[in-house]
Amino acid sequence: MYDVVIIGAGVAGISAAIYAKRSNMNILLIEKDVPGGQINKTAEIENYPGFSSIKGPDLAFNLFDQINKLKIPYRALEVLEIVDKENYKILKTDKEEIKTKCVIIATGRIPKKLGLENEDKLYGQGISFCAICDGNLYKDKEVIVVGGGNSAIEESLYLSEIAKKVTILNRSDRLRANEEAQEEIKTKNNVFIMYDTTIKNINVNNKKLIVDIIDKENKIENKLSVDGVFVFIGYEPSNELVKNLNITDKNGYIIVNKRMETKIQGIFACGDIIKKDLYQIVTSESEGAIAATFAKKYVNDINK
Ligand SMILES: Cc1cc2nc3c(=O)[nH]c(=O)nc-3n(C[C@H](O)[C@H](O)[C@H](O)COP(=O)(O)OP(=O)(O)OC[C@H]3O[C@@H](n4cnc5c(N)ncnc54)[C@H](O)[C@@H]3O)c2cc1C
Repeated sequence: MYDVVIIGAGVAGISAAIYAKRSNMNILLIEKDVPGGQINKTAEIENYPGFSSIKGPDLAFNLFDQINKLKIPYRALEVLEIVDKENYKILKTDKEEIKTKCVIIATGRIPKKLGLENEDKLYGQGISFCAICDGNLYKDKEVIVVGGGNSAIEESLYLSEIAKKVTILNRSDRLRANEEAQEEIKTKNNVFIMYDTTIKNINVNNKKLIVDIIDKENKIENKLSVDGVFVFIGYEPSNELVKNLNITDKNGYIIVNKRMETKIQGIFACGDIIKKDLYQIVTSESEGAIAATFAKKYVNDINK
């Protein structure tokens, strides 16, 4: 039986794993995809103390290097369900069941979809959530970016260096991104912003995406023919594995206290999966450290 199993190897889970391992607990770190989580999809990080600028995948590589150097046990598994047995927990994964005294959930969140009928078929065929992953496919081509928050504008800046033309579709009459990003995007002469617009439909014709754009009154305003559509319209918490535990708020984010404890003893959570005010790398990492510290205390207490 493990002392603690950490689910999710984004920045929050890796930070928790580093603190847990260094406190001499018997730990396991589980990840269903690639280590690093969302930062793998971030072009440039400019607000991470200690680095005036670092590429997301480089930070992910450094973090993975650190868990290897600390010899933190790491498994590629997907956790499907957590069963609470009071003094221990059972994790049902896609391959096996794992027993642990406590668990730290650091499963983060994933981008929201547009909600179009044929959307799923078009992911990887022209629609993307990740400029850093797919941007290079659109060299000298025309793309649409959907959204007006920080991610949308930062990713538009990145795409403006690659694509011939970037059209930003913003649902309201103003952008929500920070002032600095808004000022910078206005200096790009290949970026155009359309306000009060959303996408009604996307069809494919001769490898081009034909995008029906509607205004606030739901009237078709325009048909744009582009090569790619990048979607940055918010996030959904990755909470499937806790659906049976009743530990989330109405939006699906896990509720924790200052010690990162949920209302169930021995179940902690940290990072973008929790309800909080600031979804950033530094907050996620510090919550990971706090979760591991109180997980250690919890394990000491039940061992007494
Ligand atoms: C485009 C973009 C730009 C950003 N720019 C910045 C920035 O400049 N500065 C900044 O501070 N922050 C930025 N952020 C936010 C920052 O990346 C996140 O706040 C942070 O990475 C969240 O880390 P996390 O570990 O909580 O979650 P995540 O990074 O989401 O990691 C969660 C991990 O858990 C895994 N997982 C999920 N479910 C399961 C399961 N059931 N079983 C096993 N594994 C599972 C996932 O595969 C994932 O790897 C940006 C985010 C995006 C998307």
